[in-house]
Amino acid sequence: MNRILAIREEDFQADVEPGVVYQDLNDKLRHTGLFFPPDPGARATLGGMIANNASGTRTVLYGSTRDYVMRMVVALSSGELIELGTRASKSSSGYSLIHLFVGSEGTLGIVVEATLRLVGFPVEYSAAVATFPSVEAAARAVYDLKRSGLNPAALELLGPECIGLMNRVHQLGLDVAPTLFIEFHGPTTSQLAEVLDAAGEICASGGSLGFRPGLGRAERDRIFKARHALGEMIQHNHPEHRILIMDVAVPITAYAELLAAMRAEVEPRGLIHYTLSHAGNGNVHLNIAGRKDDPAEWALVQEVSERLVRKAISLGGTATGEHGVGMGKRKYMAAQHGASLAWMRRVKALFDPHGILNPGKIFPAEDNP
Ligand SMILES: Cc1cc2nc3c(=O)[nH]c(=O)nc-3n(C[C@H](O)[C@H](O)[C@H](O)COP(=O)(O)OP(=O)(O)OC[C@H]3O[C@@H](n4cnc5c(N)ncnc54)[C@H](O)[C@@H]3O)c2cc1C
Repeated sequence: MNRILAIREEDFQADVEPGVVYQDLNDKLRHTGLFFPPDPGARATLGGMIANNASGTRTVLYGSTRDYVMRMVVALSSGELIELGTRASKSSSGYSLIHLFVGSEGTLGIVVEATLRLVGFPVEYSAAVATFPSVEAAARAVYDLKRSGLNPAALELLGPECIGLMNRVHQLGLDVAPTLFIEFHGPTTSQLAEVLDAAGEICASGGSLGFRPGLGRAERDRIFKARHALGEMIQHNHPEHRILIMDVAVPITAYAELLAAMRAEVEPRGLIHYTLSHAGNGNVHLNIAGRKDDPAEWALVQEVSERLVRKAISLGGTATGEHGVGMGKRKYMAAQHGASLAWMRRVKALFDPHGILNPGKIFPAEDNP
């Protein structure tokens, strides 16, 4: 099921089957000047992205997959096919079942066709790299940049250990310090130059060590290619270790506090860690390494992660900003959702009374003996 069924440029829409890989869709769209913005980085299928409500580096400006799914055909557990949503760009009609199915991780039905909303490709790009004395200082600058109304299209925070690794593997020559990658999209280079000046001033008043504006397209692409490859680079760099990847997200006002809590957990315990973050959305992938031959260290990594996830939830956040619950994060469902978890169980039972759709996913272990 990997066909692009129709590209309807005039309506800014594409009809796709779920096996289409999102990069392939964007390649096919290039000549139209339109694109599908969510970008999880990995070579994901649109069905997987819809099931997980995937998002990525551009979500701070463009939103997540849910914002781009207008209509779907889904196969229910009974085998019945139903159509959800509309091709209209707005609707006030009925319950929005399409929003319920997006992010349901295949537990309510199987997506067999989707109509996706497309947007115009930005005319101009501009990017900057800002370095800071601490991860927390960079996090405070994220808050100031968001408040400024400059609308960055990417706002990624990386710890110095990530920059060191990217320099080694991709020869980037970046200063090794807590770093923000900032990108803006706009109509003209002169407008973007003004926006970058303003962003530079905000970073300077937040104590930045350096601000390198006006990266050209080639340099920007090199940095983002390395950013997208970071997860795999970390794995390769530590063949003796298992890597636990956290995916918490918090409101932007709690972001600096969450990063400080992460540092306080991992540094005194001497755990190898990497901080990479879709900072504009308060979403942090703290990667923590534990030796494969040391069960005690792996248990410690899991304990630390669990405390931090519970901290993020207590700050009004979520256990998973974009990777989904799957099985690994089922244990946080009660803490995050409280009484509404029981209503999710009822919805699951309504659509899948025999529990045949992705059994074991999302719901806590007591529901999945
Ligand atoms: C290195 C790396 C980096 C990543 N970075 C990101 C990131 O930045 N942002 C992000 O959001 N995710 C990220 N992910 C997670 C993952 O890539 C995405 O969530 C992606 O959307 C999953 O797509 P997939 O095609 O691999 O789906 P799969 O892994 O095959 O499936 C994911 C889930 O969707 C369900 N599913 C698949 N197809 C359908 C369908 N047609 N109908 C119903 N359910 C279906 C599956 O049953 C499964 O539960 C990353 C993963 C890796 C390995």
